[in-house]
Amino acid sequence: MNYNFFAPQQINFGWGRFQETGNLAASLGTRAFIISGSRSLAASGVIEELRQLLSRASIKSEFIRTISNEPEVTDVDQTTRVLRNLGAGAGDFLIGIGGGSGIDLAKATSAMITNQESETVVDYLEGVGRGLKLTEAPLPLMAIPTTAGTGSEATKNAVISSYAPPFKKSLRAEQMIPDIVLCDPQLACSVPPEITARTGMDAITQLLESYISCRAQPIPQALCLQGLKLAIPALPEAVENGNSRRGREAMAHAALLSGIALANSGLGMAHGVAPALGIHCKISHGLACALMLPATLKANYSVRQQQYAEIYRFLYPEQALSAEQAAESLIDEIQKLNDRIQIPRRLSDVGVSPLQIPALVQSSRGNSMSGNPREIPDEELTQILESLL
Ligand code: NAD
Repeated sequence: MNYNFFAPQQINFGWGRFQETGNLAASLGTRAFIISGSRSLAASGVIEELRQLLSRASIKSEFIRTISNEPEVTDVDQTTRVLRNLGAGAGDFLIGIGGGSGIDLAKATSAMITNQESETVVDYLEGVGRGLKLTEAPLPLMAIPTTAGTGSEATKNAVISSYAPPFKKSLRAEQMIPDIVLCDPQLACSVPPEITARTGMDAITQLLESYISCRAQPIPQALCLQGLKLAIPALPEAVENGNSRRGREAMAHAALLSGIALANSGLGMAHGVAPALGIHCKISHGLACALMLPATLKANYSVRQQQYAEIYRFLYPEQALSAEQAAESLIDEIQKLNDRIQIPRRLSDVGVSPLQIPALVQSSRGNSMSGNPREIPDEELTQILESLL
């Protein structure tokens, strides 16, 4: 065995623990810049409550903005300028509260504030711009996830989109792992069923893809099994009863574990294609992952049958099945879960046209695809996508 393992230094997890924000944040600085990832969260008074909690701990705060879309280059560049104009520096820190979008915007901004070799994040994104590296430590960051999906609260990257030119790429550095994660599953109770379903399937996709990745590692694999055992029964519960404490807790924990897993082990074909579906077809990240997951499991069956069987037997130890039966049952189980929570089966159901396939194939070759357990050549990926139309 030979591996490195990265995870947030401090994770505070628990129902209602949002109330502890002020005391926890006090170790990060004396002025907080808040970035929110949800209009409805902001409208419900959560941001005001957050500011009061910070004030009680003698922390000044500035509410910077709410983002209601997946973050784009312009969002990062503008937010960075706002913080620079406020004189952001020593003693300051950021709080990203929201789904992956809000947390990623906060992560990217915290890195851009201290790395000033370029005014635009494009120059620091993987594979685009001038290929600059982040050399300075970002401003400290507290991540407060409010969807149970991306696990961004535990990862070292921020995903940033551009529509012209079209790309969805990561800003990545080990120091971008948030300093403090405050995960209060109660915050997700207001997430509507459709978003709960889609974000939840992102977490499940991350747990499965990390487990079978060609960069899979032992600690993340143990976390993946634990996360899948929680998430597979909990996701329908959270979708069907948004106030279910059991459902929300299990999903928040599974999403957190999925973030730790992906940050160490990488992902695979579903996460390779998802950014392409986001950029070319405006499909949300969670939905794209959910739609691609059954096809990804099938595409990797020949090289990961044993791992599928391991997962299935861990989930359902009472069933005495052969390795082949167990592996096939895992794929069936995931398709049944997608159907139960009303994830469409076909790319055409979400507006993808055959004419878009070449661009989708070309844009799917990012870091996530390189973790897929076997190489998927362009012709094969074309066939897979066409078969899903
Ligand atoms: P999101 O953050 O875009 O949120 C989805 C929707 O849920 C939004 O409309 C938002 O307003 C709403 N919402 C969020 N919290 C809510 C709440 N408590 N109550 C009501 N509504 C709420 O979705 P997401 O799936 O969490 O994040 C997607 C982004 O994260 C994508 O850009 C994706 O590429 C990225 N991502 C990042 C990582 C990473 O490691 N950095 C990993 C996977 C995905």
